Amino acid sequence: MVAQTTVPAIAIHDLHKHYGSVTALSGIDLSIQRGQFFGLLGPNGAGKSTTIHILTGLVTLERGSVDVFGHDVVRDYRYTRRAIGLAPQEFNFDRFFPVREILELQGGYYGVPKRRAARRADELLELFGLASKADDKVHKLSGGMKRRLLIAKAMMHEPEILILDEPTAGVDVELRRTLWTYLRQLSEQGTTILLTTHYIEEAEALCDEVAIIDCGRIVAQGSPQHLIETSGGRHLEIVLTEPPTDGLPAAITSRDYVLDGARLIVTADRPRQFVAEALQALYEAGLMINEVRIVESNLEEVFIQLTERAKKGESHAV
Ligand code: ADP
Repeated sequence: MVAQTTVPAIAIHDLHKHYGSVTALSGIDLSIQRGQFFGLLGPNGAGKSTTIHILTGLVTLERGSVDVFGHDVVRDYRYTRRAIGLAPQEFNFDRFFPVREILELQGGYYGVPKRRAARRADELLELFGLASKADDKVHKLSGGMKRRLLIAKAMMHEPEILILDEPTAGVDVELRRTLWTYLRQLSEQGTTILLTTHYIEEAEALCDEVAIIDCGRIVAQGSPQHLIETSGGRHLEIVLTEPPTDGLPAAITSRDYVLDGARLIVTADRPRQFVAEALQALYEAGLMINEVRIVESNLEEVFIQLTERAKKGESHAV
């Protein structure tokens, strides 16, 4: 038998889905390890919700397979649905129910014994800063508290995986950051988290691995830093004391470069390594330097670049 630790928390293989003539997914492959904080990042209509709805049994898959800890989500749906807690985009509770009752009812729905459910509700109310609101009806909660309750509800049956569909869509910046703190706590406690988002900043702040999805395909995957290093543009920007009159040294002209007056921009895969060589060559050519700057793309630029490529239908390097 394969050791549990080597089985991915979520393994998606060649997943396809159409809605009538609309192609929502055209061959998704993803592997999410236990304990990972994973972000599915993509613009609206990319296929994020379809992917997680297939995972949680809300949408049927057409082709391919999805396994949760080695269990097929279609054949073994009882197991896989227990293993997952889903916090949907929309609030899914009755406004006139007290907070604690909402959690306990959710426990009952998953067959958690009453006492255990009461204890679990207390733990979660504490964890999500809602203990003082336990007996208040939901409509009295602020928007941020409702968001936290939504996540607490998804965690009531102690799932190993928490899936969040756009957890901070339409939420103001301050509240978003508060929610991030709660999500980081859950991650630190060992919960595997998969979130969908179209906020690059969110993926960069929270996730140790990100898959960029567009037009129903994964266009890139890796840690935010890895994506920036492999897909982002990087260059060295050098401002000379005056425009060069006798041309530039070969160390520069052998690369992609742009010279605009005294401002020189040189593309380099490893700009940090290249900086010493460039400065030495310029110095030997008698050129004086005023300023040097290494410019690296952020995840947002990588994201825009990759999703534009996907729209043009260029091949995808994953
Ligand atoms: P995302 O969550 O990334 O915004 P979705 O998975 O919701 O993307 O949508 C992917 C594509 O499938 C989009 O073109 C969307 O319009 C379409 N789609 C999603 N759900 C349905 C549905 N129930 N019926 C028809 N088309 C749908």
